[in-house]
Amino acid sequence: MISDDEPYLLVCPICNKRFPDNYTMICPCGCGGLLMAEYKATSLTIRDLPGLFRFSDWLPVKGLLPTRAAPICYQSSLLAQNLGLTNLWIAFSGYWPERGAFVISGSFKEFEALPTVVRLRERASGVILVASAGNTGRAFAQISAETRQPVIVVVPEKASDRIWTSLPAENMLLITVNGDYTDAITFANSLCSIPGIYSEGGAKNVARRDGMGTMMLEGAVTMGIMPDWYVQAVGSGTGGIAAWEASVRLSGDGRFGSDLPRLLLIQNEPFIPMVKAWQAERRDILPESDMPDSQNAILQVYSDVLTNRAPPYGIAGGVYDALTATNGVMDYVLTEEAKEAGTLFKQLEGVDLDPAAAVCVAGLIKSVQNGTIQREARILLAITGGGYDRIQADIPIIVNTPSIRVDGKIEVEEIFRIVRRWVSRYV
Ligand SMILES: *Cc1c(COP(=O)(O)O)cnc(C)c1O
Ligand SMILES: [Zn+2]
Repeated sequence: MISDDEPYLLVCPICNKRFPDNYTMICPCGCGGLLMAEYKATSLTIRDLPGLFRFSDWLPVKGLLPTRAAPICYQSSLLAQNLGLTNLWIAFSGYWPERGAFVISGSFKEFEALPTVVRLRERASGVILVASAGNTGRAFAQISAETRQPVIVVVPEKASDRIWTSLPAENMLLITVNGDYTDAITFANSLCSIPGIYSEGGAKNVARRDGMGTMMLEGAVTMGIMPDWYVQAVGSGTGGIAAWEASVRLSGDGRFGSDLPRLLLIQNEPFIPMVKAWQAERRDILPESDMPDSQNAILQVYSDVLTNRAPPYGIAGGVYDALTATNGVMDYVLTEEAKEAGTLFKQLEGVDLDPAAAVCVAGLIKSVQNGTIQREARILLAITGGGYDRIQADIPIIVNTPSIRVDGKIEVEEIFRIVRRWVSRYV
């Protein structure tokens, strides 16, 4: 029985069945698409709640956490003028106190972490496991430090200095893996067999997607209408999927227009698997042609958070479907272009960017210059991270030291024993 007080259900994009949420990541019928949240509220009421939770109507939560983190949106004047654009809007997630932006971990991954923690507490109970190239891990570390939610964060060794927090993260187990992002994911997956551990779930996690979708919600609410274009740099593309899902809800609301914004999603050359697949009109990524020599390519990009080798691209409800539904475009930029765009953005708008956000700005510039985007178009530019310089200046941060290093020096059995013992403190 589905109780009447459920504010949302999960719906499978393949069999269309509806389910109550038990922190469910896949259709119980085994369909394999991305489950979507279907909210009882068909129109969006902005709630008088802290931070991101003002969008609670369309987040898979009942309660909230105290936070100031939320996206902000404003109309650009200087960058717009520089590019000859008349209707450029910036959705900023990061730290920029003058504009009311207080995302202490600096990226929109914090919009994922907040509702994920609430969702887990309401639907199950245990320790959250996150594998990350840096930004997601830091976001969960920060929210763990703020809320005491236990988390296990697994990162590549060379990303371990990215897991800083503004408070001591006493309920985090930080594990570093000798290898790249994909090796971290593989090791994290092996830990999932330990009872009491719940994987964050990546794109399959509706809290992750709907948390990121608040960038689109904030944009539409500020502009009073949905944009013609939503521009974002992508590695997994989850933010793009999220923007599409949010726009479908806004379209159903009726007050923000009905045309879905076109997605313009950008990757960083030379690692551009989704650009290759989409431009070849394929639902599948072919490793040999779409990401040849991937290890080497990954080493060359400016933004390594954009280097997911197994993005949710072809899966039902994934990036391919989002691009198809929105008449979307995928393109790439060069590292040099991204660096220049980041410098230009800082000069004109006044805040430093995460390298991924610089890739996004370069993608916008390229698309205006080659005519993909018209100069009068209403554009929402998703600045997914930034303000690190101000964070450094304003906030005494703590760089967390790893508790476990997976480097071949300790037996895997011993690592599992340590992790099990740590989990048993909470479960
Ligand atoms: C993770 C990340 C992205 C890419 O997000 P997707 O999951 O691919 O949508 C872009 N920018 C920043 C700053 C990120 O941390
Ligand atoms: Zn199904």
